[in-house]
Amino acid sequence: MPVQNITEPARQTPVIHETDVLVVGSGPGGLAAALAAARCGVSVTLLERFGCFGGNITVVGVEGFAWYRHEATIEAGGIGWEFEQRAKQMGAAVPESQSLSYELDSEGFKLVADALVQEAGIHPMLHRQFVAPIMEGDTITGVIVESKSGREAILAKRVIDATGDADIAHRAGAPTKKTPVEDMQAASVMFHLAGVDKTAFLSGVYRDPQTYKDWSTGEWVVETDGKEDDMFSPFLGKPFARAIEDGVIPAHLNTIGGTWGALHDSGELTYMNLVHLAGCDGTDPDSMTQFEIEGRRQAMHAIDALKKYTAGCADARLRNFGMSIGIRDTRKLDAQYNMTETDVRHEARFDDTIGIYPEFIDGYGVLIIPTTGRYMHIPYRALLPKSVKNLIVAGRAIGGDRIAHAATRNMACCAVVGQGAGVAAALSVQSNCGFEAVDIAQVQTTLEQQGVRIR
Ligand SMILES: Cc1cc2nc3c(=O)[nH]c(=O)nc-3n(C[C@H](O)[C@H](O)[C@H](O)COP(=O)(O)OP(=O)(O)OC[C@H]3O[C@@H](n4cnc5c(N)ncnc54)[C@H](O)[C@@H]3O)c2cc1C
Repeated sequence: MPVQNITEPARQTPVIHETDVLVVGSGPGGLAAALAAARCGVSVTLLERFGCFGGNITVVGVEGFAWYRHEATIEAGGIGWEFEQRAKQMGAAVPESQSLSYELDSEGFKLVADALVQEAGIHPMLHRQFVAPIMEGDTITGVIVESKSGREAILAKRVIDATGDADIAHRAGAPTKKTPVEDMQAASVMFHLAGVDKTAFLSGVYRDPQTYKDWSTGEWVVETDGKEDDMFSPFLGKPFARAIEDGVIPAHLNTIGGTWGALHDSGELTYMNLVHLAGCDGTDPDSMTQFEIEGRRQAMHAIDALKKYTAGCADARLRNFGMSIGIRDTRKLDAQYNMTETDVRHEARFDDTIGIYPEFIDGYGVLIIPTTGRYMHIPYRALLPKSVKNLIVAGRAIGGDRIAHAATRNMACCAVVGQGAGVAAALSVQSNCGFEAVDIAQVQTTLEQQGVRIR
């Protein structure tokens, strides 16, 4: 609790912009939502606090968009698929090491997102942070933003909360649930390397290939279906165990370990997902400050160990950190329907499906990879707040329990959800009815016209 409060004076806030659909946050959820709505013909504004679109892809450096994909995997299609195809066309993706997918280039995807936004005629607003909802009773009518220009208002007929943390839903008074800090999935400071000898690194990988079974070492125990255990994983664990044994890195840093992403001919080894920070609260800037600094420190220990104990890495050096610590787990909407572990483990089917997602569960100690063709439906109601009107949530903050979140948090699923939210928002404006009254059959037909697999 604060020890002291001050009273801010009431003020006049200039309205700088009006739009049919306002999307706040431009990760896979928000970007897909904005594109889907704009393609339905309404005016769309995409608001983002940082200087690029793409969310975790571009801000954190998360490049593994569809690393779950194998021969039998059933795909959702739609804008998520388009992200990958467009990135390939624009030279912003390389083949991914463990799957039949392409790994996005976190820098190149900034240009992919710019192109998609501009082609769709979306009004772009970077460098403005949402700070408060504008409410008329229980209806949201816009947002207040803060930026170098001060405090400003944007009015909107419909608002899509794609902040990842359900910031808008929470501040607007919709019920949300925040995972207790001790149970949150770890945060990660991501980094990319330069100076790796590709041939030597790959021969080390071929000499001692790692599998998903190797994830269950040291601090982690990962439950699989069994079918995953002997599949190749670009996992790095042994260098850090040896570094601890030899006193190269402190013994308590036994959580360092994880996966590498893409290995480029230029010697860049990117999407280094090796630093896992338990206890970081992604809704608390003091906690994030502490763990940004600690994460960077741990990343440098990881690089020391890689240089010493990993083939091809002797001359490796830090190329860059993500612009921000990566947060996996904070608030989620307490939605009109909250998805369950049973839904994601047992191929749930819903009448109000807005898309499908393969049976890919990754989080909270569970790893299930969709090698079998099994998939679930995503229900529209998981995006709808219980109380606030004209607001819908897209991306990782939709309603669901822990294991449901381990599936729906994945970027390609966030894109499915985003596309559904965007189409629903556009149809809601065009038919002049609230989100709850939108004709779900029309939403589904429009999504199918946009290339989404619904069932
Ligand atoms: C380290 C790490 C590794 C991961 N690895 C994978 C992986 O390999 N594969 C996979 O599929 N998923 C992975 N994930 C999960 C995945 O990245 C996220 O769950 C997903 O990106 C969520 O998408 P989103 O659109 O909901 O939100 P985000 O991608 O988080 O985007 C939210 C956007 O909203 C903006 N925003 C937030 N608050 C405000 C505000 N108040 N005002 C304005 N803008 C705001 C943010 O700046 C951001 O751009 C990983 C996550 C992390 C952290």
